[in-house]
Amino acid sequence: MIDLTKSKAAFEEAKKYMPGGVNSPVRSYPHMGCPPPFIQEAHGSHITDIDGNTYIDYVGSWGPMVLGHAHPAVIKAIQKAAERSTSYGAPTVMETEIAELIHQVYPSIEKMRMVNSGTEATMSALRAARGYTGRDKILKFEGCYHGHGDSLLVKAGSGAATFGSPDSAGVTKGTAKDTLVVPYNDIPAFTKMMDEKGDEIAAVIVEPVAGNMCCVPPVEGFLEALRKETEKHGTVLIFDEVMCGFRTTFHGAQARYHIHPDMTCLGKIIGGGLPAAAYGGRREIMNCIAPDGSVYQAGTLSGNPLAVTAGIETLKQMMAIPDFDKILEKKTKDLLTGWKQAADKAGVPLVCHQSGSMFGIFFSEKDVLNYHDACSANAAQFKAWFLSMLNQHIYLAPSPFETLFMSYAHSDEDIEKTIQAADKAMEEAAKVK
Ligand SMILES: *Cc1c(COP(=O)(O)O)cnc(C)c1O
Repeated sequence: MIDLTKSKAAFEEAKKYMPGGVNSPVRSYPHMGCPPPFIQEAHGSHITDIDGNTYIDYVGSWGPMVLGHAHPAVIKAIQKAAERSTSYGAPTVMETEIAELIHQVYPSIEKMRMVNSGTEATMSALRAARGYTGRDKILKFEGCYHGHGDSLLVKAGSGAATFGSPDSAGVTKGTAKDTLVVPYNDIPAFTKMMDEKGDEIAAVIVEPVAGNMCCVPPVEGFLEALRKETEKHGTVLIFDEVMCGFRTTFHGAQARYHIHPDMTCLGKIIGGGLPAAAYGGRREIMNCIAPDGSVYQAGTLSGNPLAVTAGIETLKQMMAIPDFDKILEKKTKDLLTGWKQAADKAGVPLVCHQSGSMFGIFFSEKDVLNYHDACSANAAQFKAWFLSMLNQHIYLAPSPFETLFMSYAHSDEDIEKTIQAADKAMEEAAKVK
């Protein structure tokens, strides 16, 4: 067992002052049977805790650290920017620079606004869609996470495509009733809902590659159906690419699947590890945002110079490496091939999913296409696997519903070590029923 003595003490202290001892719930390692490692520092593909354990990191701050931790060029750019002050609350030319850059990579984003988190991006995109269409209802898919905005913390009970019920305490029934929920990848259920309610629906929001029920890519025809039905009913189609943007391909899921959404939300990578996100899309929709239009949305720290600097530098570094996304896709494929072989050797049924540099595994006999399938995977085997990997210094997300991320900093040697660790971890998982 690795020594987590200092982390354990730090966790006890933190719990006195913060709910669960953390500032975001999954960090508390619920159900994993060990305290979360408290982090000291991270460099490249490695992360080190306060007990001095160093791990190979496949969490990457939940997605942003696509270049690896503490990338020298990004750090230098942030340091230089910080010397010119950390915030002005006034326009800078670099905000236009990042908006142009994003428009180049995502041509469907004609105009955009920066915010501080993915949550704000999706909340604001929905408000814009409601303002633009004059409609109240929205439609989301079960198991898709779009941040913690009230109207998005709703999922259907037992997969029924009916009025949502609140998924979180504190979300009012009034809010929940305007959120319709349909199972992900279920084209007939979606089409039926649009037939019935399409003309009342302001927006359909989707993770075009789902990454919050572990990694679940869209089935053939799913995104096409979303585009077709939303067009038919004058509903705004919002791609939440906060996670899959720059990862499934550099140009996002919209490029991989050749679908032009009306609006897109970006986050994670575009802040280079600092708090930044954006929403944008068709000009006529974005013209509804204040001060041009009547949809109010603002932010004291929006377009923060440090966050924008880190974002621009991260994107530029990615763009400077030819086939950046393909290189990461290949590393990811190599890793998963090794994990699958380890599972086969141990006799553990395993489903591996990947989309570019996002990936995940399910301890399941059958393929996983939606939230219901994801919930049916073996949680006890996941826990045994997770703990064994942690003990072998491999840092994975402490939940079977989280996606893992490859970075450019992961070396062939890292991947080889991780596969070796998987051999043992799959044997541990095999002991669990
Ligand atoms: C992470 C995530 C969000 C929320 O972003 P925060 O910055 O955590 O608020 C929204 N949508 C998707 C798809 C995400 O993965």
